[in-house]
Amino acid sequence: MVNEKESSVYDVVIAGGGPAGLNAALMLGRVRRRVLLADSGQPRNAASAAVHGLFSQDGDDPARLRRIAREQLAAYPSVRLADTAVESAARAGDGFEVTLAGGETARARRLLLATGLADELPAVEGLARLCREGCLPRRDNDQHGPASRPVT
Ligand SMILES: Cc1cc2nc3c(=O)[nH]c(=O)nc-3n(C[C@H](O)[C@H](O)[C@H](O)COP(=O)(O)OP(=O)(O)OC[C@H]3O[C@@H](n4cnc5c(N)ncnc54)[C@H](O)[C@@H]3O)c2cc1C
Repeated sequence: MVNEKESSVYDVVIAGGGPAGLNAALMLGRVRRRVLLADSGQPRNAASAAVHGLFSQDGDDPARLRRIAREQLAAYPSVRLADTAVESAARAGDGFEVTLAGGETARARRLLLATGLADELPAVEGLARLCREGCLPRRDNDQHGPASRPVT
């Protein structure tokens, strides 16, 4: 968790801690870059109970994969995780200055946007519930298991 209020300097600030941001942090940590990974914790696939199409992890819980990734990042001391949103970012000299929710500021040589996509559902009553229960925007995902029908 973020508890410093002063501005810190990083090589890279990553906005977003889904698969894209976590993998970027892993690679940067391996080459000892100072990294701040800020994640607001609302992954696009939150409605999904299982990951599919990812080799060796087919059917696994997406939240579990993110948890394992975060645990493995602990082996890289130059990577710091912050469970908070990047609220704003601006050019500052040769790099960037970001402000996190809560007011902390951080400077970085590079800013990596890994914020994913957000699905904006039409204002149809009950649609959000249906999406949680299986009416998904991706036909190839949860509905396409070993027992499902062929895609037509
Ligand atoms: C229902 C559903 C099921 C899916 N199932 C699969 C599947 O089985 N296999 C597969 O390969 N793909 C699947 N996908 C696609 C999958 O969601 C994406 O491949 C994957 O989540 C993309 O990863 P990402 O890191 O780009 O984005 P996300 O996983 O969406 O992560 C983005 C993160 O950035 C955070 N964020 C956003 N704005 C900010 C900010 N300003 N500051 C800090 N953090 C921020 C969000 O809170 C979120 O945690 C599915 C998608 C949906 C909708």
